[in-house]
Amino acid sequence: MLSLDFKSGWNYAPATEDTKHIQLKEQYDLFIDGRFEKPEKGKYFSTINPSNEEHLAKVALADTADVNKAVKAARAAYTNVWSKMPAAERGKYLFRIARLMQERARELAVIETMDGGKPIRESRDIDIPLAANHFFYYAGWADKLQYAFPNRKPQPIGVAGQIIPWNFPLLMAAWKIAPALATGNTVVLKPAETTPLTALKLAEIIQESELPHGVVNIITGAGATGAALVNHPDINKIAFTGSTDVGKLIQKSIAGTPKKLTLELGGKAANIIFEDAPIDQAVEGIINGIFFNQGHVCCAGSRLFIQEGVADIVIRKLKDRMETLIVGNPLDKNTDIGAINSKNQLETINKYLKIGKDEGAELFQSSCDIPKKGFFCRPTLFLNASQSHRIVQEEIFGPVLAVQTFRTVEEVIEKANNTPYGLSAGVWTDKGSKIFNLTTKMRAGVVWANTFNKFDPASPFGGYKESGFGREGGLHGLSAYLNME
Ligand code: NAP
Ligand code: MG
Repeated sequence: MLSLDFKSGWNYAPATEDTKHIQLKEQYDLFIDGRFEKPEKGKYFSTINPSNEEHLAKVALADTADVNKAVKAARAAYTNVWSKMPAAERGKYLFRIARLMQERARELAVIETMDGGKPIRESRDIDIPLAANHFFYYAGWADKLQYAFPNRKPQPIGVAGQIIPWNFPLLMAAWKIAPALATGNTVVLKPAETTPLTALKLAEIIQESELPHGVVNIITGAGATGAALVNHPDINKIAFTGSTDVGKLIQKSIAGTPKKLTLELGGKAANIIFEDAPIDQAVEGIINGIFFNQGHVCCAGSRLFIQEGVADIVIRKLKDRMETLIVGNPLDKNTDIGAINSKNQLETINKYLKIGKDEGAELFQSSCDIPKKGFFCRPTLFLNASQSHRIVQEEIFGPVLAVQTFRTVEEVIEKANNTPYGLSAGVWTDKGSKIFNLTTKMRAGVVWANTFNKFDPASPFGGYKESGFGREGGLHGLSAYLNME
């Protein structure tokens, strides 16, 4: 049943994903050496569903003693089993994990949405399939490393400590674990405090795959758990995805040690629309670029630059399209914008909405209703923003788009590059030459042309400047876990 009301957009009958098949334990322990173990101090924290604030499960809080146990297990597995195993055998385990993830895809998608708040359409069609694809992709490389890096004698690094954020919980776990295992390393992974459940489900899958004990250890906790992992003396590499502030702290704390480091940090991507762009396609791309996953995307297109001649029509079409976006229950298949991941993050976004208004930018929000319970934010535009505004310079990590106009190519390149970040960018134009000109001059790790937010395991991803260093995905992602001549 469908009806269109021009004020509130499309109204669909609810199509809520069933949760009856989901089996969550009351309490999750730490996954160390192939078993679920109670934390030494017996402390647990609650993870909630941000769309209704209901408690989902108790999760173990790991402290230094637990981190020590996990690193010890990873070291023993590295020395005794994993580094000695023929590479083709290692690959088989990765294939097995990928297939088990596919078999349990529906369950993983529903849990991802319940624990983190993202629309089921995204977790079902993007997060979970891509996570499994990372394992498939890197499984294939495991026994071909000497062909990937000819004459360079690729060798594993040892034990990797991996710390991930809450915006793509299972996908980030896959980005980290799959290349590390394919290259012969063992790992200790720490998921984010607000979204630990799919990583713990992955631990169950790993158990089912009969991966040798200790090759993957998953320890839950908050920032202090992450810091204990970073500072552990028997870790050879830290792979971190998260905020630039924490990335800087980590860089400081391992300076002077032999630990290797890759950092995937924040972003403030420019999405640039030229007058010759296919306007409707571009509007859809802008909407996807910033409102996808509630703007909880490091590479979100959060700064829009429109060439002056099409500014009025683009803004009008953007506003119209925003009015049709459905904000609400993330388990409903019709929902476009789900819940903000946590109360803290909603407060940060609201703080920026106030800052934007105080700075003099013009606020536009869609007129949709938002649920009373849970953490939600309407899709938001800031018109007439300027380069010096904080809403243009700082990462908001929410569904908030700052809009500016430009006249010339040189002007927009300069403006787009004028930020401390450099993770991604988008360009919309009919001219291939313009695309090539921009991609060579933009200081961004990924530049999408006439599309946005497209990911593939074979394609490297990572930043310039304060967006971090090192690449994940593709061959680049393998090299980050290898010592080579
Ligand atoms: P965050 O606060 O930096 O947290 C990231 C992870 O680090 C979490 O597991 C966190 O634990 C842990 N952590 C916190 N303090 C730590 C410390 N002192 N030492 C070690 N670990 C520590 O970031 P977030 O708010 O979760 O995630 C959002 C940020 O991630 C955004 O800035 C976004 O741009 C960035 N991001 C970047 C990419 C990329 O590929 N470049 C991808 C996704 C996200 P708790 O959560 O338990 O506190
Ligand atoms: Mg949660």
